[in-house]
Amino acid sequence: MKINLREGDIYKGKGSILLFLTEEQIKNLDSKLVDLVDNSIHIGNFKGKKYESLLVPVVGRSFDRIVIVGLGKREELNNEIFRRAANAGLQAFSKLKVNEFSTFAEYDVDIVRALSDGFRLSNYSFDKYKTEKDNKFIMIQKIDMYVHEIKDDFKKAVEFSEATCEATNFVRDLQTDDADVVNPEYLADLAKSMSTKYRLHLELLDKADLKRKGLGLLLGVGQGSRFEPHLIILEYKGDPSSKEQIAIVGKGVTYDTGGLDIKLRSMKEMNTDMSGAAVVLGVIRAAAELKLKKNILAVAPVVENAVGTKAYKPGTILDSYLGKTVEIGNTDAEGRLALADAMAYVVKNYKPSRIVDFATLTGSIVAALGEDYAGLFSTDKVADKIIEAGDYVGEKVWRMPLPEEYNELLKSKIADLNNISSSNYGGAITAALFLKNFVGETPWTHIDIAGTARGSKRKHYWPVYGTGFGVRLMLEWLRKN
Ligand SMILES: [Zn+2]
Repeated sequence: MKINLREGDIYKGKGSILLFLTEEQIKNLDSKLVDLVDNSIHIGNFKGKKYESLLVPVVGRSFDRIVIVGLGKREELNNEIFRRAANAGLQAFSKLKVNEFSTFAEYDVDIVRALSDGFRLSNYSFDKYKTEKDNKFIMIQKIDMYVHEIKDDFKKAVEFSEATCEATNFVRDLQTDDADVVNPEYLADLAKSMSTKYRLHLELLDKADLKRKGLGLLLGVGQGSRFEPHLIILEYKGDPSSKEQIAIVGKGVTYDTGGLDIKLRSMKEMNTDMSGAAVVLGVIRAAAELKLKKNILAVAPVVENAVGTKAYKPGTILDSYLGKTVEIGNTDAEGRLALADAMAYVVKNYKPSRIVDFATLTGSIVAALGEDYAGLFSTDKVADKIIEAGDYVGEKVWRMPLPEEYNELLKSKIADLNNISSSNYGGAITAALFLKNFVGETPWTHIDIAGTARGSKRKHYWPVYGTGFGVRLMLEWLRKN
């Protein structure tokens, strides 16, 4: 989809127009609009409430229809309302089978950005496997976005929006696709092609490398699968003069059956258990496209947690890369094992200045925060900035505690650690505390996206299944800090 910034009179253009109106604005409509839409608004009983939409056919003008979308009360407006209103407008046009339209973004860079994000994130549908054309979502090809005056920061906002939202849609494709297609070897090959396309340095450890180097936790998780586990490390150097380097690590369990502690419910959506890995690939792709002045490592342990005669067993003791031994209390707590080895490996061999990890790690975080907030655990002073960036882009994160005293719950009688807590409660916290053992002194932030990475139905500009949550949050934080 192309979004073009335009100056001038929108009412001189051809085709379809999208207008956003607040409740108050309706009472004193722009004089150019009154004769066109006033009557229809009254007939349609349109109040300008949030996301309410109305189609107004127009005759005798160069353009042929207006779609009006409500924004609610003026004093309550924020970026999220603009993103969701953009979704409502885009859905209306898609139903009309229109593939281009013009709209206003008024005078504000935040509105330009929010509308652009809202349009791009809504203009998405995973229909790779739909064979009938009629079932496919009508994609919008072009939007002319009118502003009072085209300023440099408007252009930058549109450019940033394009790279970050297209990366989000790329992540959604990976999350939602069949786990027999997007398997660990597929992701390893994808990392290779990204390394060529974006000129990123790649270190790719295959099964033999993992064995030689001693990443026993990651190997343990993958030993029951017909797909070989890999560790992907892509390196982007956007600021060669700086020694700062941020490692973004993502859990890449391409399918999680639970292992021999097999999942008794909600296994079906476990193809999205590689969402963290997809997010880190999305972030480094957009960073390279935008030429961000940052040094970034995208790190993804990719592995399938399968069942079978070779699968790792409850009660097994695994040797971690760090040297600590781990008793497997539950084979379904596999994400933390894969991440622990990946983070310890990166800390030792790359010495990043900080680590941020994304993982669909625990059901507990969903029980605690629901499906709209991710949980953030951090030992890093930048945590508040990450939360702020999330608020700006509509990827909300809520800070959770890391209480030392809960470490007791991860003790094993026969090994250094147990991978599962001895308590039934606070599972998102004990999972985070488990990870903390493997990052050493490196400032670290863990974001549990188990609730936000996926949804079983479409919700505003979030599609069904993979949402791409985390990509825009991370890139916004990188841009601002
Ligand atoms: Zn699991």
